[in-house]
Amino acid sequence: MAASKSQTGAKVREIADAARPLLPELPKATRRFKRRRLRCSVTVKTDDGRAALGEAIDLSGGGLRLDSRNELSVGDRGTAQIRINANGETIRVPIEIAWRNQVDKDEFVYGLSFTEISSTDRFALLEAIYAPQNGTTGFVDATAGPDEEVQRAGTEPGTPAHYSYYMRLVRRMEQVKKIDPADSDRILYARLMQGRAIRDVLADLEVVDRGSVDEFLGELYGVPFIDLLRHRPEGNDLDTIPENLAMNHSVVPVSRNEDTMVVAMADPSDLLTLDMVRNRAKGPVELRFALLEDITTAIDNIYHGASLHSVDRLLESMPGSEESFLGGPEVEDLETLRRISDTAPVVTLVESLLRTSVEDRASDIHLEPYADKIAVRFRLDGVLRELRTLPKNIYPAVVSRIKIMSRMDITVRHVPQDGGMSMRYKRKEFDLRVSSLPVLYGEKIVIRLLEKNPVFRSLKAIGFSERNYELFAPLARRPYGMILCCGPTGSGKSTTLFACLQEINDGTTNITTIEDPVEYRVAGVNQVEVSAKRGLTFASVLRSLLRQDPDVIYVGEIRDRETADLAVRAALTGHLLLSTLHTNTAIQSIARLVDIGVDPAMIGSSLLGCIGQRLMRRVCDQCAEDYEVPLDEQMVLQELVPVATPKTLRRGRGCEKCHESGYYGRLGVHEVVAVDEGLRRLIARGADSTQLLDYVTSRGFTDLRDDALGRMLAGETTLREVLRVTA
Ligand SMILES: [Zn+2]
Repeated sequence: MAASKSQTGAKVREIADAARPLLPELPKATRRFKRRRLRCSVTVKTDDGRAALGEAIDLSGGGLRLDSRNELSVGDRGTAQIRINANGETIRVPIEIAWRNQVDKDEFVYGLSFTEISSTDRFALLEAIYAPQNGTTGFVDATAGPDEEVQRAGTEPGTPAHYSYYMRLVRRMEQVKKIDPADSDRILYARLMQGRAIRDVLADLEVVDRGSVDEFLGELYGVPFIDLLRHRPEGNDLDTIPENLAMNHSVVPVSRNEDTMVVAMADPSDLLTLDMVRNRAKGPVELRFALLEDITTAIDNIYHGASLHSVDRLLESMPGSEESFLGGPEVEDLETLRRISDTAPVVTLVESLLRTSVEDRASDIHLEPYADKIAVRFRLDGVLRELRTLPKNIYPAVVSRIKIMSRMDITVRHVPQDGGMSMRYKRKEFDLRVSSLPVLYGEKIVIRLLEKNPVFRSLKAIGFSERNYELFAPLARRPYGMILCCGPTGSGKSTTLFACLQEINDGTTNITTIEDPVEYRVAGVNQVEVSAKRGLTFASVLRSLLRQDPDVIYVGEIRDRETADLAVRAALTGHLLLSTLHTNTAIQSIARLVDIGVDPAMIGSSLLGCIGQRLMRRVCDQCAEDYEVPLDEQMVLQELVPVATPKTLRRGRGCEKCHESGYYGRLGVHEVVAVDEGLRRLIARGADSTQLLDYVTSRGFTDLRDDALGRMLAGETTLREVLRVTA
């Protein structure tokens, strides 16, 4: 009895362990010499009089990697003279040779660590590494590796002022809070190169507990810290601090307490600005410290109405009363409508709607007219959430504005229409697909947002467990055969296969995709869009494609016999074919192909493997907490994890970051069937799904739900999500 219990315990631990490495890891100490391509000339003089000339390949606050033709030995000590910028400015730092690599006969690479470095020199170095170089280029290689999710900062202006602000801030942390100098470098890297938020970085690097970050920041200037994302500025006192003052001096009005004005500044030690604000204010001023990144967002929100959460001020400023302004949902006077849809408030409202959707990482915007209001809903992490409502009177103008932008006909309101536009925001480009549908109380608008050049994550980053990754990754490296990804709409099938293409796409293979429609453009890949109008179907394109010498083919979806037959044939004749099927489980895809009419023997010999996939919402890390599992959940849990039923699980309490949902972002869960000889024979013999499942289960197959439960036990997702997604 005891043995079996500990066995299941081990199983649970094994699942949890397998899931743990998938949690995002921060660049920690291991990256010391390895993260940037920085070339600057270095002269080393050892204490016993030898010298070496060379080039620093990588440079950090703690040391550098030196390329040199001169010979030195490990343990040598001396001084390095480093030229840190194009103006010829140099610093001299005591060093020790930490390691040495002989690349060629007289070519060496040395690891130099700084034995001591003054804080002034170190910051001069950091400045050289992080600050944008005037006139010179190529100093910093800011591209993140494929495993790192690229997040752009809220502000990201890349101006010298921006960089020097964070340099000063981190220096202050060293002076006031005595943080480890190595952490300064990591904080700057995370903020300036990866665009991560300072507060997250401080907690993730364990410079300070997550719960004490605000307090930590407050002590820097002896001024209370205010989190402007949690305490949104109310938008009063805009006359006291007009936009240009706010922008130029990074200061915003936060709130008003009777006659006291609360003001947030990015640099509370900037006394000139403080004096300016005090002179303009009619009463006392209370000072708060806020981070530059938050001040910039706040300025966007309060002065530019960039956030949908702050459009109310805007709506109040709309001219005229309801009657005279638009006269209800049916404005017959199109000229008036066209004119109003072009007025500043409507333009700004639509703009803020689009921007907010990008900021919130929404995939779709839904505008739904009801009898008394317009609901604005965003699809976030796959689930629709109502963000706010809009008054009915402005809706016709909003719809017209959107239609004009997406080249639709504003005079047609009783027939569904499609249109599109592109948008640039925060250095990203988006394709917007817009559709309108006449419903009872007006026109419903749905806008789908697609990023034009998204950073495809690697297979590992998509969330494959170690075990599933090891099963699946080798399949993608096979020269030919068929790989199928299965799941319902929106389960991330194409993202997974694109990640797979990405791994294959090394420039030596001819990769072609047939899609309906092309969602993301990928460099180095030929993408064909099917079009019923032009007679381009999956099957017809695939047939002509086979004459184009492709190596790898991605077919958006296999829906009919002709496509299925061609796909199988392509896979049998030396092509690697990737496609998706609309089935619930991986095993069912085999039966589906048989149902469509493909010869089981052909499936058996062409199929390399199939994966089933779902996307689950990830617990928001900002508000995650352990909770004691209540009785009703306890009962469900006992059925799912019968033996080692956990007493506590993890969930998000709900916070501003996750729109009170408790979830932020998604992770993929998978089941992988890699076809082996035994399974191949069974398929060819026409075995049904149950027999196939029995076979793979006997070989240690873990299904979607097991994978999902493992993630739940590892605290990455919740029981509710497991039930919602794998029911
Ligand atoms: Zn949250």
